Amino acid sequence: MGTYQKVLVAIDLTEEAPQVLNKAMEISKAHGAQLLLVHVVEPVGYAYGGDIPMDLTELQDQLDKAAHEQLTAYGDQYGVSKEHQVVSVGRPESEIHRLAKEHQVDLVIVGSHGRKGFQLLLGSTANGVLHGTECDVLAVRIH
Ligand code: AMP
Repeated sequence: MGTYQKVLVAIDLTEEAPQVLNKAMEISKAHGAQLLLVHVVEPVGYAYGGDIPMDLTELQDQLDKAAHEQLTAYGDQYGVSKEHQVVSVGRPESEIHRLAKEHQVDLVIVGSHGRKGFQLLLGSTANGVLHGTECDVLAVRIH
């Protein structure tokens, strides 16, 4: 196995994020790789399907701002510099695919809940990331 040079870690900003981040730090340190910290903000319109005639711009701005603040806090805590923190808007899977390509990373790290049975049918971000990413993907089991 060669060494990884550029690692992308995607975090969802829930209380599970540190589990994924800790593993990503460990691996990027061991490989001497550069770590790119990514969070994707989902457009609020997705959740409401556009059938509520409401201006969601302000809500979206607030979510974007909160996401930037939280990512900055993690960046400070884990020693990831500002230029290696990315907040992007869209669907997590497709944004992660796009960013992995754009930044030419050789490893993508995501969290995985180890779904079973019916839940498997619903799919997961980890699944979506695996199918469509050209580089290696590591799914960190969340406990
Ligand atoms: P899920 O399958 O949606 O529960 O998410 C599992 C993992 O996917 C998380 O631990 C993150 O690594 C990644 N992920 C989910 N949502 C996002 C998001 N909005 N931005 C970045 N990564 C995400």
